[in-house]
Amino acid sequence: MSIKNIFEKSSPGRKAFTLQNESFDHFQIDKSIDKSLLRETKAHLPEVSELDTVRHYTGLSQKNRGIDNQFYPLGSCTMKYNPRIHEEICMTHSFANIHPLAPSSCSQGNLHIIHELQEMLSTLSGMHTFCLQPAAGAHGELAGLMLIKAYHKNRGQADKKDTVLIPDTAHGTNPASAALCGYKVKTIRSNSRGNIDIEHLKENLDESVAGFMTTNPNTLGLFDENILEISSLIHEAGGLLYYDGANFNAIMGKCRPGDMGFDVIHINLHKTFSTPHGGGGPGSGPIGVKENLIEFLPYSKVIKKGEKYIYQKDFKDKSIGNLMPFGGHFLVWLRAYIYIKLLGLDGLKDVSENAVLNANYLMRALTKDFHLPYDRSCMHEFILSNKNQKPYHVQTKHIAKRLIDKGYHPPTTYFPLIVEEALMLEPTETESLETLNTFIEAMRSIAKECVDSPDVVLKAPHSTPVSQIDEVLAARQPKLKWTPSST
Ligand SMILES: *Cc1c(COP(=O)(O)O)cnc(C)c1O
Repeated sequence: MSIKNIFEKSSPGRKAFTLQNESFDHFQIDKSIDKSLLRETKAHLPEVSELDTVRHYTGLSQKNRGIDNQFYPLGSCTMKYNPRIHEEICMTHSFANIHPLAPSSCSQGNLHIIHELQEMLSTLSGMHTFCLQPAAGAHGELAGLMLIKAYHKNRGQADKKDTVLIPDTAHGTNPASAALCGYKVKTIRSNSRGNIDIEHLKENLDESVAGFMTTNPNTLGLFDENILEISSLIHEAGGLLYYDGANFNAIMGKCRPGDMGFDVIHINLHKTFSTPHGGGGPGSGPIGVKENLIEFLPYSKVIKKGEKYIYQKDFKDKSIGNLMPFGGHFLVWLRAYIYIKLLGLDGLKDVSENAVLNANYLMRALTKDFHLPYDRSCMHEFILSNKNQKPYHVQTKHIAKRLIDKGYHPPTTYFPLIVEEALMLEPTETESLETLNTFIEAMRSIAKECVDSPDVVLKAPHSTPVSQIDEVLAARQPKLKWTPSST
């Protein structure tokens, strides 16, 4: 199967319907542009008919793989079903078309929603208050670290406290955000149980430590039982604790980062609270803080004054300022708000319980054929490796690519870094027993192929327009522009 790009479908003189109307004559902008700025040769645009264009782009859209057309067990990303009711409500005029600068008297309903969401997230996570502004998880991390920095600066300790400790299981954005915020990063080892190695933490804990950044459950899908001891150790050393809340789907209504001792957290609304994500669309990474960090928050909290909702204006100059134009991504907040309202606390608890149950069911069924590096009950996701398939020269990437042929989006691979050849699966709570069982069958059939006909797995995928690519070449010398001579 090969696909042609739109230039390869071009035929000289072919074009789509153009509306002939003299009233468009003033669009002859060429005449008003300085000659020196005009292109001399004609732009090489594809010449295609309207029908060719429609078929081309419809065809491309149908090659997309997403949660709406297949099981998508991409670990760490929480690819759950996004209820259609959200989309319908978000399209209503008063939500979709309100101007960000509309006076608060005209947007009381929307401000009420923002205010209530701030409160609901605070209750769910055990934090004192929330600021919804950051545009994604990584943006929330940066905001949270800026708060930690502002806190130490306020105490005259900014120079001394220049290091952030991060476990070796962390998501790549954690050390990246700390470095972007000007911190030195020290990596803390995990032990054989998949928890933080407390002795290694103690060895690295001195006055230079500004903070500790982690997620619990961690990216192995394991809950660190020593979190209370860890948080008191960090606090005793004068550091603060940052919670990466991307794994919040596992713990709703069960336990709260605030109670575990964290000072600042972010939550990925687009993951746990179900906004379509993964294609670069808008996300939202609100940050929650304990009382000690409130005075440093960005300028964008909605407060209630009497019976009125308003944007807080009386910020102290200690605030880290704004991280976004206007308040942030309102329609992502709205989806999260509807999700929480419709499910209620009991419903959210069910979400987490079913996410964890589905993950454990899948994990136990797959360990008959695949190696499980940490043999413990998992939370909402788990890690396998290729150890059993290695004798047949099959790597994790081959298993992932063979899954494409079986109709599944590949799981996360080669992350977290501490597991050699990691395959990370997160089924989420929205998948049925039947879907999980069919997926288990597909994984088993791949395990069997590795023994009987490894070539089929090694050369996968066979069902896509492009099969295996040279990944190193693609990363080092990406060809981002198509030119006719390259065909
Ligand atoms: C997704 C994720 C992030 C980053 O969130 P973005 O919204 O993609 O910026 C951080 N940490 C973990 C564990 C994640 O899974």
